[in-house]
Amino acid sequence: KVLCSIRDLSVAYPTPTGAQHALKSVSLDIIAGEKLAIIGESGSGKSTLSLALTGLLARQAMVDGVMSWPGLGSAPRAGRDIGIVFQDPGSSLNPVLTIGDQVGEGARRHLGLGRKAARDKAIELLSRVRIPQPEKAAGAYPHQFSGGQQQRIAIAAAIAAGPAVLIADEATSALDTIVQAEIAALLEDLVTNGDMTLIFVTHDIGLAASLADRIAVFRTAELVECGDARSVVNAP
Ligand code: ADP
Ligand code: ADP
Repeated sequence: KVLCSIRDLSVAYPTPTGAQHALKSVSLDIIAGEKLAIIGESGSGKSTLSLALTGLLARQAMVDGVMSWPGLGSAPRAGRDIGIVFQDPGSSLNPVLTIGDQVGEGARRHLGLGRKAARDKAIELLSRVRIPQPEKAAGAYPHQFSGGQQQRIAIAAAIAAGPAVLIADEATSALDTIVQAEIAALLEDLVTNGDMTLIFVTHDIGLAASLADRIAVFRTAELVECGDARSVVNAP
């Protein structure tokens, strides 16, 4: 079942020296429930694709092409139907809000939960992403946690409203190898047991090979290959 269909999507950013193409005529179907890795060198357009999917492209971006969501029935609402986490959990987390408040925020805003119910939901999510002592942790602030724990908290906040899609843009890249593997295992667990589609951007082909069902390869703004993870990794 096709969740999202992208046809001839082009995105360019205006720059002082002319338009900078970040995506050129990209066509891709995203299948409901799959784990899709987006790989490619720095500057190949990966982040632009994840922002386009999330509806968070910079306002000045020039967009052409069609993106439809037959699997959702309507355009996705950021935060409700799509959650996103970035490389730096600091860009997802608010330093002056307790983690309980910010993890509960999506449930309050999108599911209409009241204060108490949102807090309970936050504690449940913190436990789901394996933050120790979630009830106590809910009252603490992001800086009181390690980088890996902050990424877990950012993931909990991203999935609070029960999105159909979770996008992870280099979500493990800034972490040391052991923590990287733990976050990858967490993402896998959330998708397998949570009826979600995972789209993850990475430059780590090993991670793509171990976690993804399919891999889409970008090179200088173009989608150059997309297929079964094994065949892409083993291709000459
Ligand atoms: P990464 O490769 O880790 O995704 P980037 O450097 O591509 O990081 O992008 C980081 C942020 O900076 C993104 O929000 C992107 O939109 C913005 N950005 C990237 N390149 C430019 C640029 N040439 N001019 C302005 N903003 C940019
Ligand atoms: P990747 O995630 O693969 O590193 P990006 O999608 O961030 O690639 O960037 C693709 C191209 O678009 C790069 O040349 C980058 O510098 C440029 N770019 C990205 N964001 C912006 C922006 N906000 N303004 C101008 N150029 C940008």
